Amino acid sequence: MNKNSLEVNGGRLWDTLEASGEIGKLRGTGLRRLPLSDADKQMRDIFCDWARKAGCEVAVDQVGNIFARRPGSDDSLPAIATGSHLDTQMCGGKYDGVLGVMSGLEVIRTLNDLNYETERPVEVTVWTNEEGCRFAPAMMGSGVAIGKFDLDEVYALADADGKTFRDELDAIGYLGEGAPTVGDVAAFFEVHIEQGPILEAEDKTIGIVQGAQGQRWFDVTLVGQEAHAGPTPMQTRHDALVGAAEIVGAVNRIGLEFQPGACATVGQFDVSPNSRNTIPGRVVFSVDFRHPEDARLSAMKAALEAACAKAASGQGLELECQEIWYQPPIVFDSDCVAAVQAGAEAAGLDAMKIVSGAGHDACHISTLAPTGMIFVPCKDGISHNEVESATQDHCAAGCNVLLHAIIDRANAPGTNPE
Ligand SMILES: [Zn+2]
Repeated sequence: MNKNSLEVNGGRLWDTLEASGEIGKLRGTGLRRLPLSDADKQMRDIFCDWARKAGCEVAVDQVGNIFARRPGSDDSLPAIATGSHLDTQMCGGKYDGVLGVMSGLEVIRTLNDLNYETERPVEVTVWTNEEGCRFAPAMMGSGVAIGKFDLDEVYALADADGKTFRDELDAIGYLGEGAPTVGDVAAFFEVHIEQGPILEAEDKTIGIVQGAQGQRWFDVTLVGQEAHAGPTPMQTRHDALVGAAEIVGAVNRIGLEFQPGACATVGQFDVSPNSRNTIPGRVVFSVDFRHPEDARLSAMKAALEAACAKAASGQGLELECQEIWYQPPIVFDSDCVAAVQAGAEAAGLDAMKIVSGAGHDACHISTLAPTGMIFVPCKDGISHNEVESATQDHCAAGCNVLLHAIIDRANAPGTNPE
């Protein structure tokens, strides 16, 4: 059998996406399938049924993560895992997350069709509550599995109606027995829509995801002196908003200077007293910096601090620039990235390297297991919106790359334990 000619059944994959699109349907094209809701239960039940019919053993852990496992010829070896999430945003689309789960299922169905025995087991995971819009934070099930979030704290979380995570998980029948863990996994892959415009703009079908951007978030406070807008001469003012405006301009310049890859945003702004005829005495605003390279991200921080100091001294202001969050960039495993690239070549697809601007379950898993991601285009780069759209061909393409990557890793001698 020529491995390069292996192909998934794109029509069957599409049918599963369409079937999922009927469960929690919103305004014709979208989905509202909040985690641990009745719609989430219905989707989970159908997925588990499909997975069992495909010969998988299905297990559920204590946070509701689902693991569907196709045995390998040597079942004692660590599995090759893939998956994503089945919950959606309040007004979400049909592909975000769902494509990753259904692609995993389609790979297993394809391996079955071909009577293809992999050396390692292949496992499809459904991570609970990736979106975080009913119970925050996001990427919860994978976060508990890697030990980043505490299970009891997650259980105690309540939604807007006061219903707790644990009660709701129990009510839909997905409070499982196993302790949440990534498990014995040799590699993890996630197929996902890009959620950005780059693949479409570059006319590429596959994004070979190198990792995810790092982030640094700041709260900047400038304090000057409130005074009357009429009698106070320009030369003697301590105008906090003038200083802040200089920094906003600097933030944008830093974003442009640190290309490629930088994003720099001031998204929140609070002026006090916010009165037409009073010189602003106090301004508080946010700065959001992102970059795929840690050293460049740190240099952006240094540039911000220099710009803040200059603006504050120019206006005679008190300054506080506090970093409130730092997430280092994530670099995916080189063997997994290479397997994705080889998969795109084997499937004859136009591909490019890309860095994820959003968080994904794969980002969590990458802290414990070798991980890679496959992006496919979505129309106009739009997601978290019911107009989110992807084509049947692009979904099938992403799934074909996953098939090749999984076969590559599932039979790779170098990944076997000593
Ligand atoms: Zn997603």
